[in-house]
Amino acid sequence: MTSEQKEQEKTVEEELVEQLERLSVEPLNEIFAFVGGYDKDPSSTVVQSQTRTLELVIEKVKTKEIKKAIVLSGAGISVSAGIPDFRSPKTGLYANLQKFNLPYAEAVFDIEFFIENPKPFFQLARELWPGNYRPTRTHYFIRAFQENALLVRNYTQNIDGLERLAGIEEDLIIEAHGSFATARCIVCRRKYPGEYVKTALLEEKVEIVQCISCSNGFVKPDIVFFGESLPPRFSTFQRSDFKDCDLLIVMGTSLKVYPFAGLVDLVPRSCHRILINREPSGPFEDLFGSGFSRELCNDVFLQGDCDEVTSVLADAFGWKHQLNKIMGKL
Ligand SMILES: [Zn+2]
Repeated sequence: MTSEQKEQEKTVEEELVEQLERLSVEPLNEIFAFVGGYDKDPSSTVVQSQTRTLELVIEKVKTKEIKKAIVLSGAGISVSAGIPDFRSPKTGLYANLQKFNLPYAEAVFDIEFFIENPKPFFQLARELWPGNYRPTRTHYFIRAFQENALLVRNYTQNIDGLERLAGIEEDLIIEAHGSFATARCIVCRRKYPGEYVKTALLEEKVEIVQCISCSNGFVKPDIVFFGESLPPRFSTFQRSDFKDCDLLIVMGTSLKVYPFAGLVDLVPRSCHRILINREPSGPFEDLFGSGFSRELCNDVFLQGDCDEVTSVLADAFGWKHQLNKIMGKL
């Protein structure tokens, strides 16, 4: 770290302290019990630091001082919808593909393998097709950011389309790993609506969806396979989205898959970052490293089930009524 960076760090911390001094601290809220490390030692520096930052975030959301929030989401937010983490070889989805004698589990998403043998992927697509699942409470929590005019963008690793189903505007969603909404022929690149593939697979029950233009290509939904580049939209808004983001919420992702995982580092140092996950991941692991001694930093790890944590957090933001309304429970 250069002296310049140290200087910058000090300034950000000083700024946080000043903000906290202005803060009218509310009585301890249920949400603080989710702060990472709270169960072990609520008086530890790491818990205190996160708690104070969280207080600040809650206050700033309530007073509308937070204006530009970005949400990064991964497979963890869709688990309660019944969608298993299909990239994990341990899930039932892969077991169903045993009959196809895949050379290795992930081959189903390998573009070279798909060209040779598309049947396993089409079988999987039939099972995963959006419409078979409903959005979770966490998806509606993201929608609540939109309703409060705070959502700059939701970058998602998920291909289940549940963000769209939850009513998040298409413009505000970046499906980093693609989606089933559109498809194209892998040979002549002719575009097809996702519905075309859906009808073929789910109603006509074909094993392979073939291109009607060139007749020797397969029509593949626009989800990103291993060996394929991310959709152009993934990069289009990055610079303008992240440069003045003041709240970054990361949910249900282990932050291991790049370039998606690198997004967390694009925000300015003054941006508050909150991870909601079962385990700390990416830069949030640093909070629990032996070197952590800062009284205050901008990161908060809320440990637990996404739906449970987002429910309590929405409550802390004063959004409970609104969230229930969005979900049609009022
Ligand atoms: Zn074609």
